[in-house]
Amino acid sequence: MSTVQPISVEEGMNILEKTGVLRKGHFLLTSGLHSDQYLQCALLLQYPQYAEPVCRALAAPFADQRVDVVIGPALGGIVVAYETARALGARYIHAEREEGVMTLRRGFAIQPGERVLVVEDVVTTGGSVKEVIHLVKQAGGELVGVASIVDRSGGRADFGVPFRPFIRLNVATYTPEDCPLCRTGLPAEKPGSRKSPGKQH
Ligand SMILES: [Zn+2]
Repeated sequence: MSTVQPISVEEGMNILEKTGVLRKGHFLLTSGLHSDQYLQCALLLQYPQYAEPVCRALAAPFADQRVDVVIGPALGGIVVAYETARALGARYIHAEREEGVMTLRRGFAIQPGERVLVVEDVVTTGGSVKEVIHLVKQAGGELVGVASIVDRSGGRADFGVPFRPFIRLNVATYTPEDCPLCRTGLPAEKPGSRKSPGKQH
């Protein structure tokens, strides 16, 4: 086991700001809603020296749960699952979409009875995590819990098992008709476009 210590939420917020994970502006989300904030966790995860202690903090509440496998949905959950697995001395796998359906590929598998922790970078609706949970249960795995770097569900995400986000952020979203930012005339930016590459949350 590495000697890297998990970090506090305050230190985590500093890292989010320092690495530009949390952007302010006027954003058009893939859901069609508008928001004044946008999260891009890849900007944190590009630095192993930040990814490791943050994921160690994710692992900490599950340290005595004898986790065998940590799984995350591609792409956002891959590095998170890998680093959390390292912290727990567990195996890492990821799930990915094949024709829209969350699937285990590349020979990844969960054996019946294996104890599984599901992780994600950002939980918004929790939809991807629920699909991964379905895979875990289908395989006969024992779901230990869910962890994410950020929970921006406003406390609405419920997975029926312990959910331990590292940081909870409330990000306001608006329908285009009700968007106060639109009224200011500031154009809405679509993150993930060429100008601003990245995954939408
Ligand atoms: Zn707007």
